[in-house]
Amino acid sequence: MLIEIVYFIAAAVFIIGLKQMSSPVTARQGIVWAGIAMAIATLITFGDPAVYAHGSMNVILIVVAIVAGSIIAYITAKRVEMTDMPQMIAIYNGMGGGAAAAIAAVELVKVAAGGEAPNTTVLVLATLGAIIGAVSFSGSAIAFAKLQGLINKTLRLPMHMLINLIIFAGMLALGGMMAFTGEIDPTLLLIFFVLTIIFGIMFTLPIGGADMPVVISLFNALTGLAVAFEGFVLQNAAMIIAGTVVGSSGTLLTQLMAKAMNRPISNVLFSSFGSADGSTADEEVEGSMKEVQAPDAAIMMAYASKVIIIPGYGMAVAQAQHKLAELTKVLEARGVEVKYAIHPVAGRMPGHMNVLLAEAGIDYDKIYDLEDINPEFPSAEVALVIGANDVVNPVARSNPDSPIYGMPILDADRAQNCIVIKRGRGAGFSGIENHLFYADNTQMLYGDGQKMIGELVAGVKELG
Ligand code: NDP
Repeated sequence: MLIEIVYFIAAAVFIIGLKQMSSPVTARQGIVWAGIAMAIATLITFGDPAVYAHGSMNVILIVVAIVAGSIIAYITAKRVEMTDMPQMIAIYNGMGGGAAAAIAAVELVKVAAGGEAPNTTVLVLATLGAIIGAVSFSGSAIAFAKLQGLINKTLRLPMHMLINLIIFAGMLALGGMMAFTGEIDPTLLLIFFVLTIIFGIMFTLPIGGADMPVVISLFNALTGLAVAFEGFVLQNAAMIIAGTVVGSSGTLLTQLMAKAMNRPISNVLFSSFGSADGSTADEEVEGSMKEVQAPDAAIMMAYASKVIIIPGYGMAVAQAQHKLAELTKVLEARGVEVKYAIHPVAGRMPGHMNVLLAEAGIDYDKIYDLEDINPEFPSAEVALVIGANDVVNPVARSNPDSPIYGMPILDADRAQNCIVIKRGRGAGFSGIENHLFYADNTQMLYGDGQKMIGELVAGVKELG
């Protein structure tokens, strides 16, 4: 009873922590509370007599694993660059899914080794958890490799969908057979797990381009679901509650991300959107890129009445947010109205830009979402794009053949003038050419984001 009460308290603290994470002001505190809840749940499990009843509890090995895992996680999390966070999230997601699948494997192996089979409900939940967890594990590993640039973003085999369908059917047939008959053959069990792992890989390989945010949050939701299923198998309340909360919040995030891309989730997962098939990377673009120097760009901005700043992944790479805060101050001191336009998938993780701008102390009331700011572009003398690319690409509106067609974009091209800061001709995450850079009203300010914003600040200050 005491154990259940402590689990309940841990779950409540966990939910309070999650709630606090929804605002940048309380997010840091929320992470600490969620961590404390996890620590409580883990520690109290050692005092639960039920876990020793399984007869396979090796406390020393478990402690060694926890200590080793904690040290590795602490060191890697300390060292990771802010821009590499999505990869780390993908890995941790995958680990959660893998852990759930491993729990299922232990239960199923026990039956395969001649142990007494649990009832059908438990077997069905263990098998479902195994499938979802293993798919999330291998799929997240592929998502990691794509984000890290280790593999081609858009790998697709001939008859890819058909192969996926066959693997999926095989996986379900084997899983169903084991769960409903209660008889598990070790070889079939091995084939079952190999199929689930391969399915995760095959399922994620063709998804590329701008679609990774949807996929990462989907795996997040799946991992939560797998943990909840395995919680039922082990009769562990903390796992059930934490898994359900992660599963439902991940599902909501997936829906939000799909909405941001303006496409149904099924379309993201089963069409070739964002893959090499429809890439316009080598497409001929009309017009030419026109270069501008920082002092001239500074004059344009200093004499404007409204400037809209659009940050993207490159701002995060350049860590230019503090310089942007300074630029905002010097422009506002001259009476220029400065607003920030944030695309829901800008950067490499949900809320990436908001976190960085908040860190630099930029007021929340200057930061606008896509639907609120888009009508304002025509009245802005300058749209300043810093390190954003895909989220301002007008082909998403104009070219039905483009891999990002249909994705809502920030209408930087509709501002009277557009200044784009980037280092060179590097493409965005989806790898496609950006027509905005060739538009008549666009000028390119080449260089590192932080350095260029610094030069703009100096240019505006020089005007007195
Ligand atoms: P993009 O990745 O499309 O473009 C970033 C641009 O920044 C590049 O064109 C690059 O050009 C430039 N850049 C890189 N480093 C610097 C630097 N130091 N200084 C100045 N510029 C720099 O970014 P967006 O934010 O527009 O779009 C995000 C993309 O990432 C979308 O496709 C989205 O779907 C995807 N994504 C988003 C996730 C999310 O959750 N938000 C997760 C995973 C993917 P150059 O090399 O020439 O400098």
